[in-house]
Amino acid sequence: MDRLARIFSQQNELITLIGGYKDEFETFKSLASMPADTLQIFQQLALDLLQDLEQPVDRKGCAERSRNLREEGNLVFKESATGSSKDSVLKACRLYTAAVFEAEDAMEELSLAFANRGIALQEYGYYREAYDDCANALECGYPERLRHKVIMRQAYCAWKLKKIASLEEHLEHLGQLQLKENFKQQLEDLKQKLELLKNQPKEQETQAKVVDKSLGEILTDPGPRGRYMVAKEAISKGNVIFSERASCFVPLEQQLICQQCAASLMSAPIPCPNCHQRVVYCSRKCRDAQSAIHKFECAAYRKDILRLLGISHLALRLLLTYIPYIMPHLQEMTSAKGMWKEIMNLSRKPEASENAPEYLRSLRMVSQLDQANNEEVNYHILCVNLLQLYLKEHTDFYDQFHSFPASIEDWQLIISALILRFSGQLLANGHVGDGLLGVSMEPKEFVMLQPELWQKPRHLKRGQLHNLSHSDPITAVNLPYLSLCNHACEPSIRTKFDGCSVVNYAAKDILDGEEIFNCYTNDYRTSLKLHRAHPLKDIYKFECTCAKCTRTDPDQNYLSFHRYRCEKHNCRQEFLPDVKVQQNNLRWWLRSNAEKPITCTVCQELQHFAWYNEFLELIGSSADSSRRQALFKAFDDLDKWLVDHHSLKRIMAEELITACFYEIDGGTSLNDFEYEDLARIIRKQLEGTAAQCGDNSTEYIARMTYLWDIIAQKKCRTDKKELLEMKGKVDYLASEHREVFLNYYNDFIEQ
Ligand SMILES: [Zn+2]
Ligand SMILES: [Zn+2]
Ligand SMILES: [Zn+2]
Ligand SMILES: [Zn+2]
Repeated sequence: MDRLARIFSQQNELITLIGGYKDEFETFKSLASMPADTLQIFQQLALDLLQDLEQPVDRKGCAERSRNLREEGNLVFKESATGSSKDSVLKACRLYTAAVFEAEDAMEELSLAFANRGIALQEYGYYREAYDDCANALECGYPERLRHKVIMRQAYCAWKLKKIASLEEHLEHLGQLQLKENFKQQLEDLKQKLELLKNQPKEQETQAKVVDKSLGEILTDPGPRGRYMVAKEAISKGNVIFSERASCFVPLEQQLICQQCAASLMSAPIPCPNCHQRVVYCSRKCRDAQSAIHKFECAAYRKDILRLLGISHLALRLLLTYIPYIMPHLQEMTSAKGMWKEIMNLSRKPEASENAPEYLRSLRMVSQLDQANNEEVNYHILCVNLLQLYLKEHTDFYDQFHSFPASIEDWQLIISALILRFSGQLLANGHVGDGLLGVSMEPKEFVMLQPELWQKPRHLKRGQLHNLSHSDPITAVNLPYLSLCNHACEPSIRTKFDGCSVVNYAAKDILDGEEIFNCYTNDYRTSLKLHRAHPLKDIYKFECTCAKCTRTDPDQNYLSFHRYRCEKHNCRQEFLPDVKVQQNNLRWWLRSNAEKPITCTVCQELQHFAWYNEFLELIGSSADSSRRQALFKAFDDLDKWLVDHHSLKRIMAEELITACFYEIDGGTSLNDFEYEDLARIIRKQLEGTAAQCGDNSTEYIARMTYLWDIIAQKKCRTDKKELLEMKGKVDYLASEHREVFLNYYNDFIEQ
């Protein structure tokens, strides 16, 4: 990062020459027209950087690490054969996965690691994944004399998956090979299975066709409101307003999620062997679907520059995805100027935007680059310039333009201008998708491969659901349709991220013809107007005039989560901290806010919050049963000082619940009363979460997992109504999680 910052600052000195920002195209035209020697120095800085970032592969080291892991996996797998323990099989899968990753492009080791993982996956019951691993092993050059074993296994998995055509193909292949007696036997057996399969009545494809219906409609206002969405009919809370599938997203923070479908629950991740374990796919199907993009990104991942470039990486994705659609429009053009004019025409054409292809909807998104300050603009120019040089020097991206009349220099200008345009648009229109991840997972560990969590494929063990409760941003996504919704601090929608699709639910009842709003920042229940105003002005360049911001008391909802009762005996009045504290130190319990300057506004007495430190102390010793009971009592006592759903109460509940589950996971057994207490506190926390974040928010569902675990262990009372309500929440989960939650519900809760 330092190196990149240094290069950028050196380059920055040189581009101050070009003058103010006009548009994306003029920017790169003027950059290209710098004095030749300056330009040379400018570009050489970037080229040297790209060169130096290349990280050589230590293929021998990779092979050795991979082999060790595979052999360790073999030992564990053998263990499982004697005790037939499912846990050891999954543990072997985990070790083989590590072997697959570590092998990188040491192909011989890679093929062996895939082959062994395939055996373990099949044994565990992951047939689709096992089938893929057989194909992976063969593709990576599995030794000729043993290939029939892998093909036999592939045929077996094809039978399990009822894939008749694949099964026929593999059996035919095997029939042509010289096989030993026991394999001939297996072949005959599979042939019989094939015949039986063929004679089985075909299973009806019950998959309901997804109707892309939208209850919202886009209208255009010639004024500053621009395009906006209104309800075509009355929509009641919880109904789906519209869905959108994103073709462009990038994982955030180097998350190892599928680069094609954003799946995070992978039992057999397939890494790209050429970019140092930074890119994975959930399946061969996803890998192949992403290959047209990844072939141009692989070298950049290998150099590890993409994570340094922020939103420009997503802008590059947009370019790589949309350029095949844009190219045909530019076939006749002979100059960069003509091409840019045509692209701008495309981006202006009025039409019914719901039906326009995604690349056009994306080209039409507003950009705020013209309102950004110089420093910001320059930063984006430098990122884009680096990416453009990268494409030119380290990929064959530009080969596709050879047959066009315009020169490659012209194309370089256009490509730079387009990436910059997308960057500017994404600054204001990019979305961040969240998801549920495994709790306290190391990087390069996969939650599906943790033996202590799972009893069989996609079925958790009893009491383990809370280990899936870590909610985090995982993707930066381009969603041009959702981007048409204007901002309000009380959003009309709740967006569910499901892989790379989003489903938008009505967050409240919406009237026919009412405008549908999204909230671009924290909303009115989770932030002060003052604190929201800053990002809205800074990033989105406007001042909010929504209904919540313009009422006489705009912060009343947020502040209702910050009411205290005075500690002084003869006062004991309810109060809100004064305005100065509200703005600076309302959340005094955060480590960054060391002072606790909360004073009762009725009697002016400084509050000491002795109960807070006592509570923390009890948390620290929650291994001890009597201390735990004191802790539960201390939690109940919070009602003396914190009014209603004070947000600190939720945070303290969180600490308490996490501490208790830490003990439970570590083998401490709580008595029945303690479990009832714990369940009561979780329910209280859920009420607070519902009040502040909504009862279908990711936060709510994440917290709910703890209650499910206690109910699953039959450690607390519940009733039909609560169960039904809880089950209903799974609709707001991504489908991969929904399946796991429903399995859990059916296995342990509804019996
Ligand atoms: Zn995938
Ligand atoms: Zn790669
Ligand atoms: Zn507002
Ligand atoms: Zn007081």
